[in-house]
Amino acid sequence: MKVAVVGYPNAGKSTLVNRLAGVREAVTHEQPGATRDRKEIETEWNGRRITLIDTGGVDLAAPDSLSRSVQDQAREAIADADVILHVVDARAGLGPGDAEIASMLRAAPAPVLVVANKMDGGPGKEHLLAELHSLGLGEPFPVSATHGLGTGDLLDRIVELAPPPEEDAEADDRPRIAILGRPNVGKSSLLNALLGSQRTIVSAEAGTTRDAIDTELTWEGRELVLIDTAGIRRRSKIAGTVDYYAQLRAERAASRSDVAILLCDASVGITSEDLRIGDLAMKSGCATLVGLNKWDIVELDLDDAKARLRQRLRQRPPVITCSAEQGRNLEKLLPKALELADRRASRLRTSELNRFLADAVAKNPPPAKRGRRLRTYYVAQVEEAPPRFAIQVNDRQLINRDWAYYLENALREAWGLDGVPLILDFVPRQRSRAA
Ligand code: GDP
Ligand code: GDP
Repeated sequence: MKVAVVGYPNAGKSTLVNRLAGVREAVTHEQPGATRDRKEIETEWNGRRITLIDTGGVDLAAPDSLSRSVQDQAREAIADADVILHVVDARAGLGPGDAEIASMLRAAPAPVLVVANKMDGGPGKEHLLAELHSLGLGEPFPVSATHGLGTGDLLDRIVELAPPPEEDAEADDRPRIAILGRPNVGKSSLLNALLGSQRTIVSAEAGTTRDAIDTELTWEGRELVLIDTAGIRRRSKIAGTVDYYAQLRAERAASRSDVAILLCDASVGITSEDLRIGDLAMKSGCATLVGLNKWDIVELDLDDAKARLRQRLRQRPPVITCSAEQGRNLEKLLPKALELADRRASRLRTSELNRFLADAVAKNPPPAKRGRRLRTYYVAQVEEAPPRFAIQVNDRQLINRDWAYYLENALREAWGLDGVPLILDFVPRQRSRAA
């Protein structure tokens, strides 16, 4: 769900956004020298993911004071939002631009909430709210961003106002495969090649988020949805912000996909930007497959590239070399992606998992600290897609990163889970009350 935060400069938008996001700030973007650019922060409230879009000090009412592109971004944020917060400094009262902002927001497609900020407490402040009614946007919602007063209630209200989460995507069990990659690696070429050889395309419709095109297709009898982030970029290019938007789009596409085909340009090699996208795919819970594209124009040292990917991407994605232009190896990509989708959704038997754990512990004993050794008692898979495991231990303090990674990779190796993100929770063993 997207929440656009607009208002006159100094109303306390940034303070409020930071407060609403708590410490769970995931995506921030601040272009140097462009503090008025929009900034997005992800947070979660009652199980809903919320993207707070801080439009900075955008004064929508003063067309000449800011560059068009900044204004366009604010409008884009508003057009895109599920809920809009109009933040007003309630102590200062309405500013010169507030009425104009409000009149623009009355035409906005999403519900608008007037947030009366800087209501820091103390008696007799109610009169401050009265004036804000005149904006014609309903009951103002009092908060104090700096003191955190009313912000939990505000989040409740936002969730109430937002449209219910899309059930369709949940009910739809077709594997969703995103094609991700830096600009120019060949994503559009790949998509065209894949679709060109297909006569079974059901429909191509714009994705709900307008960040990507979702294409339904049937591949060897199996229905799937391809999520493509390539096509849109060219249409809505905003100078200087391409990388940022590309990154955001990749992130959103990954968050609603099961598998990411991370396309890389073999003529350039594996770049840090490629790795970053691979990382975000994993963090979104996507299984990852690397397509080393443009294999026709250069023969990169494949072992080298594979080693780098294995070393740098924790999910250890399988690698397929291909050429979108020459159609080489493309027939392997989707079957591999479907295989990864299945493995990501798999459920491992508890008995086998526990045999595996005993084995893994025997092969590489867990770490010890000050004479105390980590003991593992029991493991079970608690979730799938992506797989999540709970491992009972005597003392979580004794775990170190190396051993946790060792276990994760051993798990991957034992069940062919290369490319699949795995979540391992180490939980302290509960003492038996009966004893
Ligand atoms: P923005 O320009 O709308 O993003 O505003 P900022 O978040 O930068 O805040 C502007 C100023 O108002 C800063 O000095 C904040 O510390 C202050 N401020 C923000 N929220 C509150 C609040 O709830 N109470 C008080 N007293 N000051 C606040
Ligand atoms: P996107 O930005 O990731 O969608 O990349 P495009 O599909 O637009 O491709 C960028 C450029 O790379 C274009 O000039 C393509 O013709 C070229 N390209 C794409 N795939 C291949 C390939 O497999 N081999 C070669 N030699 N060029 C390719």
